[in-house]
Amino acid sequence: MSRIVLASGNKAKLEEMRALLADKKVELLSQDEFGIDAAEETGLSFVENALIKARHACRESGLAAIADDSGLEVDALDGAPGIYSARYAECDGPGADEENNLKLLSEMEQVPKSERSARFQCAIVLMRHAADPMPLVCQGTWEGSILFLPRGENGFGYDPLFFVPGENCTSAELPSARKNVLSHRGQAIGKLLSCWNYPL
Ligand code: IMP
Repeated sequence: MSRIVLASGNKAKLEEMRALLADKKVELLSQDEFGIDAAEETGLSFVENALIKARHACRESGLAAIADDSGLEVDALDGAPGIYSARYAECDGPGADEENNLKLLSEMEQVPKSERSARFQCAIVLMRHAADPMPLVCQGTWEGSILFLPRGENGFGYDPLFFVPGENCTSAELPSARKNVLSHRGQAIGKLLSCWNYPL
């Protein structure tokens, strides 16, 4: 079984990714297990940041790596928080998700229901080694809108505010298996699995 490093310290993401890769003969390990610090996300797009994170994890671990860079794009805010989704409220640590959600609600206080469209974006990279000249890069997009109040306990990040029209609930109200089928990350991983036809 191949060992692959997930270039993230986010436990919720690790669980989602493990479930999505369950059929693949790989052991997905968190970069935390190798004592690898988060890479500095200096890119200007999800794709650039995913490449930076994957290359850093490959270099530090000597193994193949998968990285995702994802975030929420809100039309009424000209695409914010976008690539800065994790750091939107400039807060680190366990309270960051809640602070980010509060900031989003406050920025959108005056935005009517009909103008609250948004989407989650995800870029996924599979890199075989730090000098890989042809990393696999796939993307996924999940359309929805932003509610006025949070709902639901599942997931992480902006899930309690992200209303999924086809399901008539927020992504934090979806069971994790259903979220994995629909989500930006689920879509991006699905594409990655269909392009990934070589051993690591
Ligand atoms: P990253 O870990 O640098 O890719 O930052 C992603 C950030 O985007 C997270 O910290 C969340 O705030 C947000 N995000 C990405 N995917 C999701 C999701 O599936 N649900 C809720 N928020 C998400």
